[in-house]
Amino acid sequence: MKSGTFFGGVHPRYEKDLAGGRPIETMPLPARLVVPFAQNLGAAPKPVVKKGDEVKRGQLIAEPQGFVSVPLHAPTSGVVQAIDVFPHPVGADLPAVVIVPDGKDEWAPGLNVERDAGDLGADALRGVIRDAGLVGMGGAAFPTHVKLSPPKDKPIDVLVLNGAECEPYLTADHRLMAERPAEIVEGASWFAKALGVENVIVAVEKNKPDAIAAMRPAAEARGYAVRALDVVYPQGAERQLIFALTGRRVPAGGLPMDVGVLVQNVGTCYAAFEAVRRNRPLTERVVCVTGRGVANPKNVLARIGTTFGDAIAFCGGLREDAGKIIGGGPMMGVAQYSLDAPVTKGTSGIVVLTRREAVQYAGDPCIRCGRCLRACPMLLNPSVLSVYAERLRFDETAAHHVLDCIECGCCAYVCPSRRPMVHHFRRAKAEIRKKQARAV
Ligand code: SF4
Ligand code: SF4
Repeated sequence: MKSGTFFGGVHPRYEKDLAGGRPIETMPLPARLVVPFAQNLGAAPKPVVKKGDEVKRGQLIAEPQGFVSVPLHAPTSGVVQAIDVFPHPVGADLPAVVIVPDGKDEWAPGLNVERDAGDLGADALRGVIRDAGLVGMGGAAFPTHVKLSPPKDKPIDVLVLNGAECEPYLTADHRLMAERPAEIVEGASWFAKALGVENVIVAVEKNKPDAIAAMRPAAEARGYAVRALDVVYPQGAERQLIFALTGRRVPAGGLPMDVGVLVQNVGTCYAAFEAVRRNRPLTERVVCVTGRGVANPKNVLARIGTTFGDAIAFCGGLREDAGKIIGGGPMMGVAQYSLDAPVTKGTSGIVVLTRREAVQYAGDPCIRCGRCLRACPMLLNPSVLSVYAERLRFDETAAHHVLDCIECGCCAYVCPSRRPMVHHFRRAKAEIRKKQARAV
């Protein structure tokens, strides 16, 4: 195995050229925003507004429920039209608040003002980040303040800025690094201060030379290292990234903090800059709207709650041969059944495949070729796991360590039978966790 990489992985068609050269465009406000409450791992926040209420941008609209939860804020000023159940990008119908913009985009009092944050200590920084509703914006949506609060017996000595963006098609992080490097690095400096960490590494795959060139001076000005990584999927998965950068192995069932490392997506670092320096809660994010099924692929700065339909319309609409819409990338994303699903804090991309491209995701029986075993970066046996999961034998999937699956989709990518492995493994993991919860 070469240094700077990891065992397994695949080389999918990256298709980054579709949107990678397109600078970030700010989307105009749509006619309505659908803001789901479930946007973070952990407990969803509970609404504090009702139908008919007027809201300002950044105003609290749902309050957190416990430590592993974050507040939710109005993405613009306007009126609450409804609180009801709407399509959610996870593939279910879930409660959301609908806001009709008044067009003024007026911030709530006290927000959107520059602050001199130099005096903020670690606890105050964690508080600002929690109150701004920050979650991991690479897709995991884990509350950032929780990640910044490791237990005392798990000290962190390395902070990694994850700019690998290894998922095919997606270029939102790429554009952010190329266009706003100083802001990303300042946001990371607040994380480093909250953790008391000096060793900060910016990790970017080599297929983004302009992002590496932009990040290097900004990072090095603060004494942070920039590492250009081999292009192999899933280079940006936390365990694989940590091993490639430090040689440390996160133990099975463990977390990066077990080996003294904390990983933050570069988009989350940018959101931290906005929260700490500009006193802006998280109300918008960069989304890559791309694929051969969309007329004009772009990277757009969209408000949270913008529907996929509105985002795609801003990019010229669907092409005639559009066959499948995915929330996220084609390896780890979720197929969408409605264009009314909205952009959430964890939505890094909307990928539209053509009908021809989408066919490869149908599935046949396993022919025991063994390719998936060679591709799995977690050293699992995806073939056996998928057969057990298909037969609903979830205890056996647990015995074969399905809970260690990082849902990277490498096995499905190399499978000549086009088996929907990640779908099977998500189902198995959910069933095992349900059983574990019942047993407590
Ligand atoms: S079994 Fe899980 S971790 Fe292994 S390749 Fe498949 S999706 Fe990735
Ligand atoms: S790659 Fe597909 S067909 Fe081959 S062993 Fe794995 S699951 Fe079976």
